[in-house]
Amino acid sequence: MSRPRVVVAGLGDSGLLTAIHLARADVEVVGISSKPGLVSGQELGLRLARPEAWSRDYRIGFGRFRRLDRAELVHGELTGLDLAGRRVALGDRTIGYDVLVVATGVSNGFWRRPGFQTDDDVTAALAADHARLAAAGSVLVVGGGAAAVSTALQVATRWPATTVTLAFPGERALPQHHPRVWDVARRRLDRAGVLLQAGHRADVPDGFAADAITSGPVDWSTGQPATAADAVVWAIGRVRPNTAWLPLELLDDAGFVRVEPTLRVPGTDEVFAIGDVAATDALRSSARNRADRLLAANVRAHLTGRPLRGFTPPRRRWGSVLGPEADGLRVFAPSGHPFRFPAWSVHRVLQPWIVRRGIYRGVRSP
Ligand SMILES: Cc1cc2nc3c(=O)[nH]c(=O)nc-3n(C[C@H](O)[C@H](O)[C@H](O)COP(=O)(O)OP(=O)(O)OC[C@H]3O[C@@H](n4cnc5c(N)ncnc54)[C@H](O)[C@@H]3O)c2cc1C
Repeated sequence: MSRPRVVVAGLGDSGLLTAIHLARADVEVVGISSKPGLVSGQELGLRLARPEAWSRDYRIGFGRFRRLDRAELVHGELTGLDLAGRRVALGDRTIGYDVLVVATGVSNGFWRRPGFQTDDDVTAALAADHARLAAAGSVLVVGGGAAAVSTALQVATRWPATTVTLAFPGERALPQHHPRVWDVARRRLDRAGVLLQAGHRADVPDGFAADAITSGPVDWSTGQPATAADAVVWAIGRVRPNTAWLPLELLDDAGFVRVEPTLRVPGTDEVFAIGDVAATDALRSSARNRADRLLAANVRAHLTGRPLRGFTPPRRRWGSVLGPEADGLRVFAPSGHPFRFPAWSVHRVLQPWIVRRGIYRGVRSP
């Protein structure tokens, strides 16, 4: 008897994990990705400041994931979906499915782009962004979320002679985190010599996509004098869902994929969505809250006629904000309390045992 085929569309952080859980003997998994391997959207600061260290943990070729040995991987860009015919399209090629998992994420700034890339393209982009910041005497980071805060801290600690400024619109940065997280982050930023400009909202010209590192000066719509900088990193949260390939009937007004708590798309039986593209909750937090396990269980439940379970998101953002520092990696709980993995444990315990063995179920050495 032929096995049901699950197509996982997008193999970033959450599509990859969903494919890993599903790729067992009972299901045929086809994973489709415009990237040649996992190129994670996590830890922007580390990626810019120390791309080789970032690549070790956040850029991993698909061939290294043991659990993907049973999956078929297609390196290409999805262009369409025929819901009635249960087929996805990559240009002229179509692939049929019994279940479709949409995990194509969002575009954000210059570091998360949905287009087709080879390994060489990824290497070149990482090197170019790093070189741009390495050559700058002054760096202005615009934005108040985790990507902005981690960039400011990591750039300041990597290049202590560089003047680093973090400008954000509110009284404090990290408004979606518990206030305790900002208290810790502010102290770390102060210590690293980052200049903080609260209450600065950038004057973003119409049509400016904020998808490249630019040069200053930056004007402020909040009235302060313009800020000059050799390099400006825009991390202003202008996320756009990667859903141009999907029929509009699956999307909400902002273009994200509508989902029920079970992660099933309403009005369909066999289409599910997860990760930043899925409109699960206000923070669209199913990626960091590891809904991949629930989704894989729900796909199996759907295929065997069992009831599906629901995803319950926490109200606040949590996780790593600052990235790895000299004294270790701080992970913040939803209550804002940090737990610090000491530096020695990150590469001896956290990455090999918790991440590679526990989360990814086995990753081969490069
Ligand atoms: C284990 C884990 C830990 C996390 N920890 C943290 C944390 O500590 N702090 C924190 O802030 N966040 C954390 N996050 C969340 C993270 O910040 C993002 O939410 C996550 O990267 C989003 O994953 P995604 O799969 O939705 O999107 P992505 O990782 O962006 O994946 C989408 C993929 O789809 C591809 N794609 C897009 N369009 C197409 C197309 N048309 N055809 C083919 N492919 C396409 C993209 O190129 C990309 O590879 C974590 C997530 C996970 C899974």
